[in-house]
Amino acid sequence: MFEYAPAPESRSIVSLDSTYGLFIDGEFGDGKGTFKTINPASEEVLAEVAMAAPEDVDRAVAAARRAFGPWSALPGAERAKFLFRIARIIQERSRELAVLESLDNGKPIKESRDVDLPLVAAHFFYYAGWADKLRYAGFGDDPKPLGVAGQVIPWNFPLLMLAWKIAPALAAGNTVVLKPAETTPLSALFFADVCRQADLPPGVVNIITGAGDTGRYLVEHPDVDKVAFTGSTEVGRQIARSVAGTGKRLTLELGGKAANIVFDDAPIDQAVEGIVNGIFFNQGHVCCAGSRLLVQESIATELLDSLKRRMATLRVGDPLDKNTDIGAINSAAQLAKITELSEIGSSEGAERWSPPCSLPDHGFWFAPTIFTGVTQAHRIAREEIFGPVLSVLTFRTPEEAIEKANNTPYGLSAGIWTDKGSRILAVADKLRAGVVWANTFNKFDPTSPFGGYKESGYGREGGRHGLEAYVA
Ligand code: NDP
Repeated sequence: MFEYAPAPESRSIVSLDSTYGLFIDGEFGDGKGTFKTINPASEEVLAEVAMAAPEDVDRAVAAARRAFGPWSALPGAERAKFLFRIARIIQERSRELAVLESLDNGKPIKESRDVDLPLVAAHFFYYAGWADKLRYAGFGDDPKPLGVAGQVIPWNFPLLMLAWKIAPALAAGNTVVLKPAETTPLSALFFADVCRQADLPPGVVNIITGAGDTGRYLVEHPDVDKVAFTGSTEVGRQIARSVAGTGKRLTLELGGKAANIVFDDAPIDQAVEGIVNGIFFNQGHVCCAGSRLLVQESIATELLDSLKRRMATLRVGDPLDKNTDIGAINSAAQLAKITELSEIGSSEGAERWSPPCSLPDHGFWFAPTIFTGVTQAHRIAREEIFGPVLSVLTFRTPEEAIEKANNTPYGLSAGIWTDKGSRILAVADKLRAGVVWANTFNKFDPTSPFGGYKESGYGREGGRHGLEAYVA
């Protein structure tokens, strides 16, 4: 492996305040208390952030309600101007926002810079384009916005999940109260500043920071018309229960345990790149991660040798270094969960392997890891680990691959690697997954719908389908 000199992105591109307030009705203000957000790569405190109490959530929902009338009455082309403006400001500030995202989340700068931020801007551009064309979207002649959307997002793609939620909501004429995750509140607060810069009318977007209780209070709020949630299946279930019977519209984007299936005719080198991208992108903190590798038995040895060689070249470390492939685990709690499930993998008899790699002394780190000899009964084959840990299973026939791939409570995504187009179509057809990638993995585009079956949730985000969740 080549030795690379450090190539750190400058941290001074982001100017952080020591405290941040709640963004309600176009103004930043205090909450009832505060909590600290840290850099998971160093454990350094980045800022103190306001904790929204129930009365703050009430204020935010009331502001969104007041803003709803005038905002929804604007012609679509006028709403589009605001969305285009937001998209352009995000592009202008993308370097700053990318560094901020890497600081607060731990993801490598090359991912926040080259994946997250371009996609965030692309989502706003894309939905800006729909704002004056809603009547041609196939939802009737005069689709109406729902009202106030309460949106709760996770920590793995803080700004991107915000874009997935806010862009279609605003394009369709809704107003928004959004709660970012407790461990990654900063980019949403910077986004609030982007909204001010774009002169977005006060109350159209409100950002309330806090913990799970703040999210619970928001989704249960009687004046919220639509709930959109991305996060764990367990919390998704609680939300579905609390929303049931209220008349609120609900979309849930939950966990996954995707099968990445490699057939014996697949181009091995490309497949290895796809496997690496599938599970080590964003430290494996990806709901659609290819966390189960299903490899045809006849090529398993060759493929695994190649995969191990490739894994030995992955650089783990400083997220702000432009050479880093795998950054920090987002929190101590997530690291504990990954560590525990990996120990269970070993104790249940799977064989664990990681390349030699030295991990930094401070912060939360986990070496890229694969488990071979995994059976379907193993917990690491069934549960979402949400970390850089791959479970490898083998199969002999396409039927067996399909059966194993579908043998999961989840149904978010899957991958197929083969030389034959007919096989791609035949297998994809039988996979119970919302997204199936063929000879690639983890490709996202604002024009294409994303969402799951079974315990991966319901509703679609992205594309024309993503608008449907925000119109009546
Ligand atoms: P959660 O589902 O708890 O968090 C997602 C969001 O929901 C956060 O903003 C969280 O707030 C909020 N929240 C928590 N409880 C409630 C509630 N009762 N009502 C409304 N909102 C709530 O995920 P975690 O961060 O706790 O991660 C736990 C596990 O979930 C991970 O290990 C991973 O396996 C999985 N996960 C899956 C994701 C996916 O996209 N598939 C995304 C994130 C996690 P706060 O952060 O303040 O607690």
